[in-house]
Amino acid sequence: MTRPARVIIDPLAARHNLQQARRCAPHARLMAVLKADAYGHGLVRMAELFESADAFAVASLEEATTLREAGVDGTVVLLEGPFEAAELAVIAELGLEVVLHTNEQIEMLERAACRLPVWLKFDTGMHRLGFAPEQFAALIPRLHGLAKPLRFMTHFANAHKRDDPSIDDQLGRFAAMLVDAEGERSLANSGAIIAAPQTHADWVRPGLMLYGVSPLADTSAASLQLRPVMTLRSRLISVRNVSAGEAIGYGGSYVCPEDMRVGVVAYGYGDGYPRNAGTGTPVLVNDVLTQVIGECSMDMMSVDLRPVPQASFGDTVTLWGQGLPVEDVARSCGTIPYELLCRVRMRAHYETGCP
Ligand SMILES: *Cc1c(COP(=O)(O)O)cnc(C)c1O
Repeated sequence: MTRPARVIIDPLAARHNLQQARRCAPHARLMAVLKADAYGHGLVRMAELFESADAFAVASLEEATTLREAGVDGTVVLLEGPFEAAELAVIAELGLEVVLHTNEQIEMLERAACRLPVWLKFDTGMHRLGFAPEQFAALIPRLHGLAKPLRFMTHFANAHKRDDPSIDDQLGRFAAMLVDAEGERSLANSGAIIAAPQTHADWVRPGLMLYGVSPLADTSAASLQLRPVMTLRSRLISVRNVSAGEAIGYGGSYVCPEDMRVGVVAYGYGDGYPRNAGTGTPVLVNDVLTQVIGECSMDMMSVDLRPVPQASFGDTVTLWGQGLPVEDVARSCGTIPYELLCRVRMRAHYETGCP
């Protein structure tokens, strides 16, 4: 394999971030979120790196099965619970915990007379998944005998915004509902773990921060002492001079304002780079910050080499990660880092090591 496009996963950064999450929520247990192939980092690889977590959370039985087959025998939670009754037998056999968020799922358990560890999910304001708090009283007797133990979960709509009033609103509704209830509670994802310690409760559920990315729009990962786990690396496979007035790439959207050196990088949207990352998107060539120019192709993209006059064939390019936060790339192309990380897995070649 000689094409230089690489996804490098830094194990030390991963372990460091997990410790950092623990420092933020020292009294809570920690459920490491591994859905979407561990945010594009590789499910089994990250489960191994996060082995000291108290539990793992995934979105599907397939992901949970993959973990079990890889020898991960700790607690695994299905964040969306069963999708159909046929899954229950496997869920029980694999010893998984389920989130239940809708009546149909409770009926599945009732019909199968299946007893499982349950996280009952409540909608305290996000209005995506979960029971209404008013349903609480009616639900509890039904789960008696089916849920062992019974625990409670909710999810924030705005934890990525520091001090958003909806966080305490949601927390208040959850607490009011559970005022007389027994059972462990979990609310906080990364943003709340960092910026809303009043939400930590019994279990926290970090995802993004474990991968070294800031969940807060106004705060850098470095200032939160998080280190990027994923670095996208490739090399310049062409360095040429292009004359003023000439256009670069498909559609010719970038026209050289002067005679300039242009590099072509062996990385493209076929490797998970966002195709809408056009001119101006940050990129590092030999650790020097420069920009993407023109449209990204499937296997290649062009970069402005004016800030790096010494750059030559074979030189190192970083698309994001070490030295260039994925947050900056996401901001520049109008998306969030979550999306950029998740889409990397298409055909990329992964390595583990220090970037
Ligand atoms: C994805 C997810 C998380 C993790 O969220 P981050 O913002 O990545 O920390 C936590 N809880 C639930 C229910 C999720 O779906």
